[in-house]
Amino acid sequence: MARLLLILGDQLHPDSPALRDADADRDTIVMAEVAHEAELVPNHRQRLALFFSAMRHWADARRADGWTVRYQRLDDADAAPSLPAFLARCIESEAPEAVVGVVPGRRSLMDELTETCREAGVGADWREDDHFLVGRQDFADWLDGRKRILMGDFYRAQRKRLGILLDASGEPEGGRWSHDADNRASFGIDGPQALPAPVRFAPDATTAEVIRMVERLYPADDGPMWGSLDRFEWPVTARGAQAAADEFIDERLPHFGTYQDAIWAGEAFLYHSLIAPALNLKLLDPRDLIARTEAAYREGRVPLNAAEGFIRQILGWREYMRGMYWARTDAFLEGNALDAHADLPGFYWTGDTDMACVSDVVHQLLDTAYAHHIQRLMVTGLFAQLLGVAPRQVNDWYIALYADSAEWVTLPNTVGMSQWADGGLVATKPYVASGAYIDRQSNYCGACRYHPKHATGDDACPFTTLYWDFLDRHRETLSSVRRMNFQLANLDRKDPDTLAAIGERAAWVRQAAADGTL
Ligand code: SF4
Repeated sequence: MARLLLILGDQLHPDSPALRDADADRDTIVMAEVAHEAELVPNHRQRLALFFSAMRHWADARRADGWTVRYQRLDDADAAPSLPAFLARCIESEAPEAVVGVVPGRRSLMDELTETCREAGVGADWREDDHFLVGRQDFADWLDGRKRILMGDFYRAQRKRLGILLDASGEPEGGRWSHDADNRASFGIDGPQALPAPVRFAPDATTAEVIRMVERLYPADDGPMWGSLDRFEWPVTARGAQAAADEFIDERLPHFGTYQDAIWAGEAFLYHSLIAPALNLKLLDPRDLIARTEAAYREGRVPLNAAEGFIRQILGWREYMRGMYWARTDAFLEGNALDAHADLPGFYWTGDTDMACVSDVVHQLLDTAYAHHIQRLMVTGLFAQLLGVAPRQVNDWYIALYADSAEWVTLPNTVGMSQWADGGLVATKPYVASGAYIDRQSNYCGACRYHPKHATGDDACPFTTLYWDFLDRHRETLSSVRRMNFQLANLDRKDPDTLAAIGERAAWVRQAAADGTL
């Protein structure tokens, strides 16, 4: 009897673990576009098109290799509505001896598919996703008994274990494990100069067909689908993803480190890699990216702060977040350490706000399904945290509008790092700042009706008002967080009248955010 090889939309490894011992003459690959996954949360149309186009290209490539592929399109007549329903249907018609798959990136889906196999009386063989450099059990072993859980410690251990960016004596290149302190420059008044244009990809026939399908099935612009398909330019094959990585390493990585925290209105991509969507679909191998980045440094083509900063994103943060997701899923699903319950303002879906920074980032997202990490952490994420939005609503928004999103990455990043709703599992302090930080890192504030330094009055920056209000409201909780001492000491310098005025203005900001008039 044959086996069913289940391949999910974000498991498009060129060399899938599910296929390694499979027999192309007997076994059948099964793949499905399903409405349940598409509509689980609101979604950016580009995100849907990216998944479906990449899946169709991958399926076509396997057919060309001689595999039998049973593929369900979203608009097939009588399409199964969910992945478990699709798998159950395949099991019934194919009567396989077993189902083979790769561990999904969402725990609840893993549970549902396992239950489907159990109900059908078919054995399931879930294989570890060795796209990642650190297996789930290896991460759990690293975590076991550890009093201090810090990404920096994890990253250092991986650099040592894998021998990455080490000098001849086994110490970090340049004498430091992290060069983050060199990577916080802003562009200055003239802005970025002579930015290299990233390689982008015009839709081919397969992508164009997917785009037409998404536009036909989800025409309305008020949810559940958002965003424009006009600028769909993502790579959808391993070859395209490799071309994007080549261009990044050659052209933009040299400046990536220095300006990785800088923002410039109207410049969505700057020196960022834009490869996270392809990486999270498994079209790229993180080992290859790390090796090529280190080689570029050793050949003198890339400075150390850029090479180390990029490697830290992949080997440090990405692997750490994935490990933490599986090790502490419930803490992220249920965490709400700051007791935040406000609704996400409507302008997160439309960009319709006078706050120039939020408006620019949301419009950029609707156009491109992309915003870089500081736009995520210190504009949209920061405002949601200061406002006190329920963490799961923030998480669902991040899943919805970013081409590279997946639960394993957004839950720890959003609920943990951005919203500090896990009470400090992944971040040693809340990432909170006033409008002055955004003013320093961008050119947004000059074009805004609000003033970044004002916390009260009609032109008070909502970030600045809410920043002080946040510290005041959470003073007791934050007083036990050592790294918040400096910010709380500044709060203590404010007299009671000023704090009362900030509280009043904060109430106005919250109401205006809810009314859509901010
Ligand atoms: Fe954003 Fe405040 Fe600056 Fe306006 S003044 S762009 S709201 S940080």
